[in-house]
Amino acid sequence: EALREQLLGRIRDVPDYPQPGVVFKDITPLLADPDAFNALVDALAVLCARHGATKVAGLEARGFILAAPAAARAHLGFVPVRKAGKLPGATLSQRYELEYGSAEIEVQQDALAPGDRVLVIDDVLATGGTAEASLELIRRTGAEVAGVAVLLELGFLKGRERLSTALAGAPLDAL
Ligand code: IMP
Repeated sequence: EALREQLLGRIRDVPDYPQPGVVFKDITPLLADPDAFNALVDALAVLCARHGATKVAGLEARGFILAAPAAARAHLGFVPVRKAGKLPGATLSQRYELEYGSAEIEVQQDALAPGDRVLVIDDVLATGGTAEASLELIRRTGAEVAGVAVLLELGFLKGRERLSTALAGAPLDAL
């Protein structure tokens, strides 16, 4: 509860960004506060252990900022899930629908394999489309999903419901 207040107190609402009518949750004040950032990374590392993760995947771009230090603290390898065209070598890619148009994410083919248990980390769960695509992508490598962990869940967008099939019983934690 104290952690929740500490984190929420460092997230800023930015009205009409990136477009009119949208209230953007800006996490940069939290990243700039060493106590809050450290507490967040600790909490994510605890989830890695609790869910038996063997790898941590971060979703580009703000997911990287949280997932990489959490992976290091939990002494696990970090795997970047990137927007299409950014990763060298053989990749698997997954296309998904956005409100307008579609997007594509990729992971390196040799980054994950059967036997891995992956905790997926991102900053904000909104509609759940990005996280859903990442879970499909990860399963296609043969790896198992240990769970999804986000700093903030925008409950009114019902991302948790959208994700429920892809989670297949794996936990979704919003700190
Ligand atoms: P979704 O696919 O609709 O769940 O959108 C989630 C993705 O969009 C995540 O990768 C977030 O980084 C980003 N996102 C959506 N809304 C916000 C926000 O208010 N603040 C920061 N990131 C956001």
